[in-house]
Amino acid sequence: MNVSSEFDSELYSTAVSQLDRVASRLQLDPAIHHRLRLPRRALVVSIPVRMDDGRTEVFTGYRVHHNTVLGPTKGGLRYAPDVSLGEVTALAMLMSWKCALMNLPYGGAKGGVRVNPRTLSVQELEGLTRRYTAEIILLIGPDLDIPAPDLGTDERTMAWMMDTYSMTQGKSVPGVVTGKPLIIGGSAGRREATGRGIVYVLYQAARRLGQELRGRTVVVQGFGNVGGVAARLLWRDGAIIVGVSDVKGGIWNPRGIDIRQLEAHVKESGGVGGFPDTEQVSNTEILERPCDVLVPAAVGSQIRQENADRIKASIVAEGANGPTTPEADVILRERGVTVIPDILANAGGVVVSYFEWVQGLQYYFWQESEITARLQEVMTRSFDRVWSLANKEGTDLRTAALMEGIRRVAEAYSVRGLYP
Ligand code: NAD
Repeated sequence: MNVSSEFDSELYSTAVSQLDRVASRLQLDPAIHHRLRLPRRALVVSIPVRMDDGRTEVFTGYRVHHNTVLGPTKGGLRYAPDVSLGEVTALAMLMSWKCALMNLPYGGAKGGVRVNPRTLSVQELEGLTRRYTAEIILLIGPDLDIPAPDLGTDERTMAWMMDTYSMTQGKSVPGVVTGKPLIIGGSAGRREATGRGIVYVLYQAARRLGQELRGRTVVVQGFGNVGGVAARLLWRDGAIIVGVSDVKGGIWNPRGIDIRQLEAHVKESGGVGGFPDTEQVSNTEILERPCDVLVPAAVGSQIRQENADRIKASIVAEGANGPTTPEADVILRERGVTVIPDILANAGGVVVSYFEWVQGLQYYFWQESEITARLQEVMTRSFDRVWSLANKEGTDLRTAALMEGIRRVAEAYSVRGLYP
């Protein structure tokens, strides 16, 4: 089977080659395998935005539903300069496996707008978000497709989306997005959920490997929602955060970085660069610096064939989606590095998004302690299942996680049959 050219991109090839590998292991029905390689629907939209200087600029946006076999679709919305249909489709596919792996009643989706959000004013961002929401409105809804924040988007973006959608319905519809501010139906603990989930699975992995996280050195690439929270929680628990980076580059101190002071510095200066007592390093270099645990939590395809044998960490927890290419994956596996794959490591976000959605549909909100406890339970249970399957099948954790997720989606296809 060839990769469909509409979706041509590095991440889509990666996602399809992962699917193909697992499909043959699972001996999937070829017809179901073929359907899983392609999204159910993909929408491309043009988004005209009135800029502050009076000009109108037109941006390109996407919303892709990979499959709806287990329920409505769920997936983030990203604003980034290199977003493409292929990338969004690959991320929607990964969301399908992730939701199925975590036993959530969702199919996978993803959205994106090709824009560098840092170059837009708040007003321009609001105009962009509202018009994008209006353009994809037929594809979203609380029982249809529920967006959430991702790279370059946040709670404020979700509030604008929720408001735009609600205006077309003549009533407030909190269940149309997750990752909203608390005041309009957001969930306690959602902002921290992905970073917190990474920490939970890291504890499980360390325990299985007979290690302790306290006193271990950690590098985090990306100091945003995911990486920032993971760094803070690991630091609070006694890990030594030796390196951290953002889009402009990284900082390094082998004796450890005080994350609370770094957060204050980022708030003031807008980035991690220039933090006292640290050496400036590039985003490529920071991945190769000595550490026990590496958390890539920025963008895709960071650990590649060219640098995989220079990664020093013994555990890699994938905060970002698709940070390791398939070639690099093989190298890491051969070198004995334990890779906790994205669809497991960063699933805390979608798990608490599910909690937020359920709370919104019931208009009944839970305490943060309840959410954190349930998240820990779901992450630990999923990690255990993946770890046991990997041992039983003699595979790495990524293969086991994909097997579990893909098997569930394929089984649902098989049970539901083909319409008409
Ligand atoms: P964010 O925008 O809050 O933070 C991203 C961080 O990465 C920032 O520090 C940014 O400066 C840095 N960055 C951006 N482009 C970079 C580049 N080219 N090189 C190096 N650093 C770069 O985004 P986020 O929500 O923290 O998401 C980060 C990653 O985690 C993404 O891959 C996203 O898909 C994934 N993810 C996010 C969630 C979530 O709940 N937010 C859930 C699952 C997975």
